[in-house]
Amino acid sequence: MPTPERMPSSQSLQSSSSSQGAFSSQTASASIWDPVAETQAAEQRQALQIERLRALVERVATVPFYRAYFERQDLGPQRIRSLDDLRRLPFTTKDDLRRHHPFGFLTVPRAEVARIHGSSGTTGTPTFVAYTKGDLALWADLCARFLVAGGLQPQHTVQVAFGYGLFTGGFGLHYGIERVGAAIIPAAAGNTRRQLTIMRDLDPEVLICTPSYALTIADGARELGIDPRGLPIRFGHFGGEPWTEDLRLEIEQQLDIQAFNNYGLSEVIGPGVSGECAERNGMHIQDDHFLVECLDPDTLEPVPEGEPGELVITTLTREAMPLLRYRTRDIARLYRGPCPCGRTSLRMSRISGRSDDMLIIRGVNLFPSQIEEALLRVEGTTAHYLIEVERPGTPGRSMDELTVKVEIQRETFSDRMDRMQALRDRIAQEIHAIAGIRAKVELVEPRSLERFVGKAKRVIDRREGSD
Ligand code: ADP
Ligand code: ZN
Repeated sequence: MPTPERMPSSQSLQSSSSSQGAFSSQTASASIWDPVAETQAAEQRQALQIERLRALVERVATVPFYRAYFERQDLGPQRIRSLDDLRRLPFTTKDDLRRHHPFGFLTVPRAEVARIHGSSGTTGTPTFVAYTKGDLALWADLCARFLVAGGLQPQHTVQVAFGYGLFTGGFGLHYGIERVGAAIIPAAAGNTRRQLTIMRDLDPEVLICTPSYALTIADGARELGIDPRGLPIRFGHFGGEPWTEDLRLEIEQQLDIQAFNNYGLSEVIGPGVSGECAERNGMHIQDDHFLVECLDPDTLEPVPEGEPGELVITTLTREAMPLLRYRTRDIARLYRGPCPCGRTSLRMSRISGRSDDMLIIRGVNLFPSQIEEALLRVEGTTAHYLIEVERPGTPGRSMDELTVKVEIQRETFSDRMDRMQALRDRIAQEIHAIAGIRAKVELVEPRSLERFVGKAKRVIDRREGSD
């Protein structure tokens, strides 16, 4: 099984005196990058959050979009007395960002902008995000926090197979790793064969990419006759797209590594919003810098703790483009309770999907992650799949049809029709059990579906009015 040491959960609080996360050689075994911030008592953190929220309200009053709202509501920093007052503040949506494209939300002069990134445009036109020098320093620090929480140490070598470019994944993680002091191989996304050569030549212990690309790397290795379990990687930090617990097990098993989840989005900062510790029971939210609410996407009221809802994020300390209550469209659950690792932050579950990705099929809500979960429960299938939705027949009298194409393992292929039919039935049953929906299942040959180097695209919706 995976070799990386489980980091000691009794963090060496005393051994690091700096709140800046100086990672001296004496603290090499510490599993907390910034003990002062990350293990702060709840009341202290709350006081900090309120203070920062007040300063934020003052800062964003220079943005016409927010100023207009504040004037209408007679709002100002003096009205923020507790965290409940967050609810007085307006939401910000991706459409608002688009309407004020590209820099309507900037709170600093252009001369102070140090870098510009963009969202990858998974769900429409990309949006740009600006950073000051201070934002970039904070970003590196926040990435360092989750990387260290997931076992990164200065003596490690890390292969970054995320895209370097407008996408925040590559550069965000890059500077986080540099901050920790580990060696970086900026391999960037794609060219799986070359990734494998680099891996074999340079012996990195850590891999960073999307979860789907981790599987592509394992596949690529097998194709070259290399046992993926024999690769030097010992653990991986994966993010950028939704994945399931079963996919985690699959990746861990195929590559013989330990896999950690981390979450972020460019509008808010990029990766670094939250990430898992060695306990892997939810992602620690860096809530001294981000206030995260979990709301019912229809009523916009908070859901009870532990229930799924849309994450809405307020950036407490961003300088160039701070946002109030940004509606992420990502669905997850929040948990408060203590974590054995010693961190005191709010935690979030993995993302079950984005509300943009949610399909409504014959009135039933379906997330691609539910299909993934079903497939990985059936022996002989793989995590490579494609969901197709159609509405054949005459308008008004037709029904949605869901087809799931699944790659099966080479060994599973059989000439016997009855065996293949039984496998299809098993998969359809599992999908029905998990998602409550009937799907047509098509088994396809290994490697016949498209592979992705970044975020996977799992859905083709051919119904009228769909993208
Ligand atoms: P885009 O919205 O164009 O994909 P980003 O590159 O900023 O732009 O991607 C951020 C989005 O990626 C998040 O809003 C979320 O939907 C998804 N994402 C990022 N990390 C994770 C993760 N660990 N699990 C699930 N989804 C994730
Ligand atoms: Zn923890």
